[in-house]
Amino acid sequence: MTRLDDLPIRDDLRGKEPYGEPMDPVLVPLNVNENPFPVPAAVVRDMLTELESVLPTLNRYPDREFLELREHLADYLGHGLVRDQLWAANGSNEVLQQLFLAFAGPGRRVLGFPPSYSMHPELARGSGADWVEAPRGQDYELTEQLVVDAITEHKPDVVVICTPNNPTGTATSNDVILAAHDAFDGMVIVDEAYVEFAEPGTPSALDLLPGRPRVVVSRTMSKAFAFAGARLGYFAADATVVDAVRLVRLPYHLSAVTQVVAKVALRHAPNMLDEVAALRTERDRIASRASELGYRVAPSEANFVLIHGFAAPRQAFEFFLARDILVRDIGIPTALRVSAGTPEQTDAFLDALEDYTKSAA
Ligand code: PMP
Repeated sequence: MTRLDDLPIRDDLRGKEPYGEPMDPVLVPLNVNENPFPVPAAVVRDMLTELESVLPTLNRYPDREFLELREHLADYLGHGLVRDQLWAANGSNEVLQQLFLAFAGPGRRVLGFPPSYSMHPELARGSGADWVEAPRGQDYELTEQLVVDAITEHKPDVVVICTPNNPTGTATSNDVILAAHDAFDGMVIVDEAYVEFAEPGTPSALDLLPGRPRVVVSRTMSKAFAFAGARLGYFAADATVVDAVRLVRLPYHLSAVTQVVAKVALRHAPNMLDEVAALRTERDRIASRASELGYRVAPSEANFVLIHGFAAPRQAFEFFLARDILVRDIGIPTALRVSAGTPEQTDAFLDALEDYTKSAA
C-alpha cells in the first residue's frame, strides 16, 4: 500500500496531521463551538423558494464579486459600512487565508498571542510567512504594554488578535487593538468570530475602521449565526483591502448556492440570532457550576468556556466521551474547552462533570 511519505510531497508537509476534530456523531457535541440550534423552519422555507430559481442557473459561473451578498453583509454590520468594504469566502478560515496570502507570505512575519485559534499559525505558515508569538498576561488578557512590547521585539508585518479569544473566551478592548495598530506599520487582523456572544453593547473593532486602512475585522456566520455548514466567513475593512485580496482569491470561489442561502440567512438575521442570549445563559451556567465544583474558569465573552483543574485532561476527555459527550482537549495543561449547548446538552455535561469530579477525588 502506498503511504503518504512515499509520494514526492513537500518536505515541510512530511509527518504532519491534517487539522480537524473527530466527526463521529455523538449525542452531545460540545467540541467545535457550533450553535446547537437548527436553522429555523421559516428561514429554511425561504431558502428553498430562492434556491428553486438559482438551481437551473448552475450551468453558469456565479457572480464573482457577489455584490448582493456584500450589500447584505454591510447592512447587517451597520457602522456606516458599504458594500465595497465587505468581502466573503468559504468560512473565515478562507478569509484569513486570503488575508495572509495578500499581506504575509515568504520573507514576512506574523505575530499572534497564544493560546489562541490554532489555525492562525497554520494559515500564516501556509502563506510562506514565519509565525512568531508572545504569551498572554494574567487571566489570558492582552494589555497595551504587552502588545506593543511584542511588536517592538518581533517586528511583524501582520498582527492577529482574536477577540473574544478562542479558546479562552477573553475579550480584548479597542484601546489595545489601537495600541497595536499605532506601534507598527503592518496589518492588524482582528478575528471576531465569536463577537455576537459578547455582552450587547460591547464595542467591536469595526469602530476602529474609519481612517485606518491597516485594520481588518474578520467575522463568520459559523458561530452565533448557526450557519457553520454553509461556510460563510467575511471581513470588513477599507475598500483597498478588498482590492488586495482580489489579487489572491480563486475566481468564483463563492458558489451561487452559498451566495443565495447566505443572503436569505442575513435577511432573517434576528431570527438566526434568536438563541444567542440563551447560549450566553448556558455558557454562564457551565462557568458557575464548574467553579462551584472547584474548577477555575477563565471569564468568557464567547459561547464556550475554558475550564482549568483537570489533573489529567485526556482522562477527563475520555470520561465524557464514554457518556457520549465530546469536549475539546486543546493541549493546555489541566484545561478542557466546552461549548455552550442546548439546556439539555449543558445539563448532560454538568451531570457528567459532577460525577467525574467525585470519581477523581
Ligand atoms: N476564527 C476563530 C477564532 C475560530 O474559532 C474559528 C472556528 N473554530 C474560525 C475563525 C473559523 O471558522 P469558519 O471557517 O467556520 O468561519
